[in-house]
Amino acid sequence: MRHGPRAGSIEVVVGVMFSGKSEELIRRVRRAIIARRTVQVFKSHLDARYAGLYSVTSHDGGAVDAAPVDSAAEILRLVRPDTSTVAIDEAQFLDHGLVEVATHLADRGARVILAGTDTDFRGEPFGPMGALMCVAEDVTKLRAICVVCGDLACRNQRLVDGRPARYDSPTIMIGGRESYEARCRHCHEVPRADEDQVVML
Ligand code: ADP
Ligand code: ZN
Repeated sequence: MRHGPRAGSIEVVVGVMFSGKSEELIRRVRRAIIARRTVQVFKSHLDARYAGLYSVTSHDGGAVDAAPVDSAAEILRLVRPDTSTVAIDEAQFLDHGLVEVATHLADRGARVILAGTDTDFRGEPFGPMGALMCVAEDVTKLRAICVVCGDLACRNQRLVDGRPARYDSPTIMIGGRESYEARCRHCHEVPRADEDQVVML
């Protein structure tokens, strides 16, 4: 006879930058620790913001320790058999193998919590986030505040030298001079290459 629901599930927290994904991930991890679960936290090695490579840090300064990984397979290698909660931040930077890894961990009884940006600077689906939302039991979609108009923000505005980055610039910029703002759909700007050209009739 079974007592209560069986363990193992996938939760996804998505949204633009500054929408509070890391805060929410940290909150869920802290509560799992209070519940005396064995927790392991990972994040993409591409994100070294604020406190550096070995923690998940929110824009508000909250933090939990995290192991940097550069592939989904590495997570599978690093998860210990007795770990019951696996949290992964900046999941958009990891490969599509993350869908299979999350599914495998949940099937074997782990609670898997993934946080990531669901759209890139163009407003298009980012890495494995869309597929992760499909296989998850629970999806939380957060929004930030548009810094231009004050509405809810659902887009990442990339700026290079203060100007909107063009559509054809790379999805992931490493060590670049770019910065990001949260903006709503209407204030989001992604100039196409042909918008710079003067049309001669
Ligand atoms: P994410 O992981 O989604 O980038 P964080 O959890 O790191 O977000 O940070 C969320 C915090 O960022 C908010 O609680 C707020 O204090 C701060 N913040 C800064 N700029 C904005 C903004 N434009 N909209 C909403 N929150 C913002
Ligand atoms: Zn706006």
